[in-house]
Amino acid sequence: MSSILKAKKEIIEIGKRMYAKGYVVASEGNMSIRIGENRILVTPAGKNKGFLKEKDLVLVDLKGKKISGNLEPSSELRMQLFVYQKRKDINAAVHAHAPYSLAFACARIPLAQNLLPEVIMFLGEIPLTLYATPTTEEVPSSLAPFIEKHNAFLLENHGVLTLGKDIFEAYNRLEMVEHLARVNLLCKILGKTEELSKESLDKLEKLKKI
Ligand SMILES: [Zn+2]
Repeated sequence: MSSILKAKKEIIEIGKRMYAKGYVVASEGNMSIRIGENRILVTPAGKNKGFLKEKDLVLVDLKGKKISGNLEPSSELRMQLFVYQKRKDINAAVHAHAPYSLAFACARIPLAQNLLPEVIMFLGEIPLTLYATPTTEEVPSSLAPFIEKHNAFLLENHGVLTLGKDIFEAYNRLEMVEHLARVNLLCKILGKTEELSKESLDKLEKLKKI
């Protein structure tokens, strides 16, 4: 299977999962995979991501010039390309409007980060980035202070962006952010949120290095 066909199948699969979980509705969200040094496969604008077909996906270069595809690339192409321009180690990016995460992004309340050991181990800090008008250059600008050192971002009044060495890692990180947001909300309802102590965090930090 060619790398482009494999990438198309992966994006279609992740689109189905995101839609099934309610992380995107209607034509929301976007995804991309780096195929080669100067080739990015990206979801099309205006299509429901739960029902993508191979022919819907669009191949662009790192500057956003369309190489092949019948449809127009995602309206958030600037955001998607910014990821690859800044991060050589990243090969996939997933953007969704997952509702628990989105609620925190709309309330402009940062997630309590140090709640779940798995998130600390495998994701790290999730910054809340300043509101930026979707589809515009404001979005990369809002990510710029954080893009080099983080793999997940909560975008004010907009949604979530996660990165990975492949699309499965990016998607898992999206699930983790949404899970953490849900737990954050439940803790608020319970009226108590206990973050891990410095001592516990230090122990996790040591495990990371093994
Ligand atoms: Zn969006």
